[in-house]
Amino acid sequence: MAKKEGATDPTEGELQFIFPLFAEGKLSDDQIIGELESEGYTRRGKRLIKRLRMEYKVAQKVLKAYYSGLSTGNPEMIRHRRKLSTIARIILTGWLDSVKRLDDGKFELIDRENLTKPEYLDRKQLIEMLSSNLEYAEIQARENNLFECFKEHLREENKDIIDIESHAKQSPLELIDTLREIAERGLMKGTCHVCESL
Ligand SMILES: [Zn+2]
Repeated sequence: MAKKEGATDPTEGELQFIFPLFAEGKLSDDQIIGELESEGYTRRGKRLIKRLRMEYKVAQKVLKAYYSGLSTGNPEMIRHRRKLSTIARIILTGWLDSVKRLDDGKFELIDRENLTKPEYLDRKQLIEMLSSNLEYAEIQARENNLFECFKEHLREENKDIIDIESHAKQSPLELIDTLREIAERGLMKGTCHVCESL
């Protein structure tokens, strides 16, 4: 029986070709399939590309955490740090993680998953969005005082962030950068009053 096209596992060479494209983050799944074909590889299905993209993201997170020297030996601690990193993700809701400052002073946001049309905000709108996301995250993380833990950890992630609310207004991009790093890592650095008992 003939083998179905593209049903085999990807080769190391294919992965070495695909992963840098994921890292660049500019090509959609369909475009990656096209690039593979023009490289002479068997036609691949979208499902495989989606799965590989997910695996790539997980590997990227694990490596980031590893290289930032986070101790991951204690499962309770991992759970706690993971939970805290999801707060960073909530604050970045609405593609804030993609924000880029343009020459005209405006800010561009793009949906990196679906590569839809960019959205443009001025500084005031950016700060408003960030501040309202912060309020929402605070409500979401009220249980067990998790937001307090988050703020304590955040001060160790970035010593300049003494008060997150006022930092959002004064240096929104710096705050977004710090949050993006936490969200991508999927684990939060630092310690808080809860950490001591874990
Ligand atoms: Zn903690």
